[in-house]
Amino acid sequence: MKFTERQENIITIVKSNQPITGTDIANELGYSKSTIRSDLSLLTHTGVLDAKPKVGYIINTDKQSNTVNMKLFETTVKDIKSKAVCVKENISLHDAVIQIFLNDAGTVFVTNEQDYLCGVVSRKDFLKSILGNVDINQVPVSVIMTRMPNIIITNDQESIVDAAKKIIQHKIDALPVVEEIEPNSFKITGRISKTTLSKLFVQLTEL
Ligand code: ADP
Repeated sequence: MKFTERQENIITIVKSNQPITGTDIANELGYSKSTIRSDLSLLTHTGVLDAKPKVGYIINTDKQSNTVNMKLFETTVKDIKSKAVCVKENISLHDAVIQIFLNDAGTVFVTNEQDYLCGVVSRKDFLKSILGNVDINQVPVSVIMTRMPNIIITNDQESIVDAAKKIIQHKIDALPVVEEIEPNSFKITGRISKTTLSKLFVQLTEL
């Protein structure tokens, strides 16, 4: 269930001022008490708020964890994806490493001439290539990348919980967020990384 912005604001106000009367909540929001009556009623009935007679509204602590749960399952990849770092498949290992530093990323996604996703290169891939004594100025990333169709992908509509499960199950740090343009040809629209997920985790504590 999705709360309106005003209902979310009421929850925030109660959280930091509890116990607080309906009149005081209305004042904080700049509305009349009758305007927020239906919001307070919905929040109480769904168990997010507890109404204590003569005291005011407090957060129903049991339901607070439900709110976090609801938020988690409502959040999709589109809501939290970050910018993907992409390089072309013929770029040298040297130049790809520079992109990792410039963009403060751990993983770069590789695209072909048509701008479609064709590979993924992680920090460990670069380290492995150093152990192999390759010439980092000559060898292109296409030589060391993990290639399609072995790339684990996600899309805007996927639940963030399912994306996180993919990261855990495949023991990887990041997923490219893609849009399928033609069958098995994907454009990259973002990334979901362990950092993105950590940020969401912290945001949920601020609900
Ligand atoms: P790190 O190198 O920092 O451990 P990862 O755990 O993400 O980073 O990478 C481990 C291996 O998995 C690398 O060989 C990398 O190419 C590959 N890899 C990374 N991301 C993906 C992905 N989304 N799909 C498939 N393979 C991936």
